[in-house]
Amino acid sequence: MTKNIYDVTVIGGGPAGLFSAFYAGLREMKTKIIDGQDKLGGKVHLYPQKMIWDIGGTEPLAAGKLIEKSIAQGLTFEPEVVLNTIVTNIQKESDECFSVETSTGDKHYSKSVIITIGGGGMIKPVKLNIENAHLFENKNLHYAVPDIKRFTDKKILITGGSYSAVDWANDLSPIAREIHIIYRGDDLTAHEADVSRLQKNGVKVMTQSEVTGVSGGELMEYVEITNNQTGDITHDAYDELIVNHGYDQENLLFRENNLGLNLENDFFVKAAPTGLTNVPGIFAAGDCIRYTGKVNLIAGAYADAVNAVNNAKTYIDPKADQFAMVSSHNQRLKSKNKKIMY
Ligand SMILES: Cc1cc2nc3c(=O)[nH]c(=O)nc-3n(C[C@H](O)[C@H](O)[C@H](O)COP(=O)(O)OP(=O)(O)OC[C@H]3O[C@@H](n4cnc5c(N)ncnc54)[C@H](O)[C@@H]3O)c2cc1C
Repeated sequence: MTKNIYDVTVIGGGPAGLFSAFYAGLREMKTKIIDGQDKLGGKVHLYPQKMIWDIGGTEPLAAGKLIEKSIAQGLTFEPEVVLNTIVTNIQKESDECFSVETSTGDKHYSKSVIITIGGGGMIKPVKLNIENAHLFENKNLHYAVPDIKRFTDKKILITGGSYSAVDWANDLSPIAREIHIIYRGDDLTAHEADVSRLQKNGVKVMTQSEVTGVSGGELMEYVEITNNQTGDITHDAYDELIVNHGYDQENLLFRENNLGLNLENDFFVKAAPTGLTNVPGIFAAGDCIRYTGKVNLIAGAYADAVNAVNNAKTYIDPKADQFAMVSSHNQRLKSKNKKIMY
């Protein structure tokens, strides 16, 4: 069977990966995106209801909206998209081809690779390790805050003591009926000013306590709370439970590292600001890259992506221009512009 070889394979479908796919399409590269999650969008899925102000050139928009727009842009030139597939290794197949190995056992072949796996690789929220919690997940037990409006007039329990937990307690307090925050430590670890706002917002704080059970019917109705200091156990009714216990990180891609990529702390690729790594043909962009002056923002990911794609393009075709024509005058967009403009 002949191998289906792509010009570039982008590992990771977050902001850096999606913009890389768009830009690679602009540069007429046959492109594939592979992501370990069941959806494109990357880490931004962790905060879909938060407002983002610092993209540049756009009014503030909800992160969920940004995901929609980023996916639409990333798919402009119809790259191949492979989801639910974690890349575990990259090997040199021949002088002109890499094989990208995955958790599903499939191999993908590519002349160049852009790594955009974010800071930390695959990130998953730490789940409640209690019986039945999974029954209420995606119903009224949440690991990321979905639509804010659903919390209107609700009695909410937030578990976790970090900045994020406290932030959500404050943000939801104007619409919620009642909010309690529970933390197993002595003191909430969020900024002092935010902790003070909890009091002003009427949020009840329970420290040295943790969620030890959940029960209900179709939806979760009761939460068992254990006070670790006194041993007291209570069963309280709540409409919604938000769990903010941080994230687990797993970076399978760099575990074997057969190519000998220069890494920092096993999680980040040491690369030039132009996306060049120490391995010719392998480029990197976004939060996974480390260089002096790297900006860990979505805006920074876009600039990284352009550099990585331009270098991937000239790697596979040394005669190609180093830079693409600006999009406003790019021939590749002419027919698409016609559809939009006329
Ligand atoms: C709570 C929070 C709020 C933030 N707010 C802002 C903000 O207001 N403004 C701003 O500019 N930035 C913000 N950021 C930062 C921003 O989200 C990141 O800079 C951005 O998501 C980085 O994009 P990325 O594509 O490099 O990585 P990510 O978004 O992390 O995407 C990486 C993708 O790679 C996939 N992946 C990882 N490993 C593998 C593998 N081995 N195989 C296949 N796929 C893999 C992951 O599933 C993921 O989809 C925030 C971050 C957080 C956590």
